[in-house]
Amino acid sequence: FDQLRATDPEIAGVVLGELDRLRGGLQLIASENLTSPAVLAALGSTLTNKYAEGYPGRRYYGGCAEVDRAEEIGIARAKELFGAEHANLQPHSGASANLAAYAALVQPGDTVLAMDLPHGGHLTHGSRVNFSGKWFHTVGYTVRRDTELIDYDEVRDLALAHRPKMIICGATAYPRLIDFARFREIADEVGAYLMVDAAHFIGLVAGKAVPSPVPHADVVCLTTHKVLRGPRGGMILCRESLAQRIDKAVFPFTQGGPLMHVVAAKAVALREAAQPEFRAYAERVVANARALAAGLDDEGMRPVSGGTDTHLALVDLREVGVTGADAEARCDAAGITLNKNAIPYDPQKPMVASGIRVGTPSVTTQGMREPEMRQVASLIARAVRTDPAAPGGADTLAGLAGEVAELVAAFPAYPR
Ligand code: PLP
Repeated sequence: FDQLRATDPEIAGVVLGELDRLRGGLQLIASENLTSPAVLAALGSTLTNKYAEGYPGRRYYGGCAEVDRAEEIGIARAKELFGAEHANLQPHSGASANLAAYAALVQPGDTVLAMDLPHGGHLTHGSRVNFSGKWFHTVGYTVRRDTELIDYDEVRDLALAHRPKMIICGATAYPRLIDFARFREIADEVGAYLMVDAAHFIGLVAGKAVPSPVPHADVVCLTTHKVLRGPRGGMILCRESLAQRIDKAVFPFTQGGPLMHVVAAKAVALREAAQPEFRAYAERVVANARALAAGLDDEGMRPVSGGTDTHLALVDLREVGVTGADAEARCDAAGITLNKNAIPYDPQKPMVASGIRVGTPSVTTQGMREPEMRQVASLIARAVRTDPAAPGGADTLAGLAGEVAELVAAFPAYPR
């Protein structure tokens, strides 16, 4: 770091500023986590220099013996950890992994059945502003109004009516378990591929805190930087019969040279995720999310679907009378980082939204448990209800930021 400071004080300042932000506040973005020093070391290594187009043993460049080892080790660890027949560690991100899965399984113009974005789906599940919505005919399924759970009968009806080539399940803002076996049945009934986008919850699968989609899916796409606590990136698991198609769809179809420092860091994260401590961590992430959701419920902030089985809760703020955008800004002023989020059947525009999403991967990495989640719920509730424009509002938020700083000081991110 001293070298960075000497060469580029401006960027060194950004790095330090971000570290201060992480240390000084509550990190509740459900898709983020705090990577280990070992993962950071691999990311900041000379492997970033290496061009390695192709796959281990079949590269288009010389000098790949060392990076081949990193990728082979990573692939073996991924297969072992997830019980998968094949793993591809090269996708640069979750969206790149999804693009490759589309490329491998469907043709432009084909019909894809996936979860609607306002109900929890991801941009790559058919949004009109994304390749998935522009190049494919997407049919969206929703959650039920009464239970706010996936309506499997609707999924089946839509599948029978539209005969999709691929069905996607897995979401960005769905707090409940997904019945992968039921999706498999529906996919088989109409002869569709089943792609599970496990980006959000794959870390819970690694820690055995939730059921695995791997036995049910043709292809599982994931990100390595969420609960899994690895570097920013993507990965694909699949059956051996699809291995070649997936590999070719990643390289050369959608990507060029892999980021070998990231591939190595993914291997490190997979090793960490295979340790018994990671199992305990994954269980705590879920227990903490449940406690946080229950705490927010007690504060009059309703968790969508009544609670959570995973690492995240989606909270409906309509009863509180504060929009998601205002809640996000107020929490920000109190040192609490979270995001506004659409709730199912949301009357607001996405940039305003009626809800917030909270997740427990980072605070659990910091060592917080259920009692702290009760405190966090109270801090969020007080921040959300404080209008900064009202008399004394800004002071109240500053006071809450002080309480937040006191709480996180006992659970430091990246201890000094
Ligand atoms: N799929 C899902 C379900 C996601 O939630 C996300 C990101 O949050 C992605 C894919 C995309 O991942 P990335 O941001 O790495 O492209």
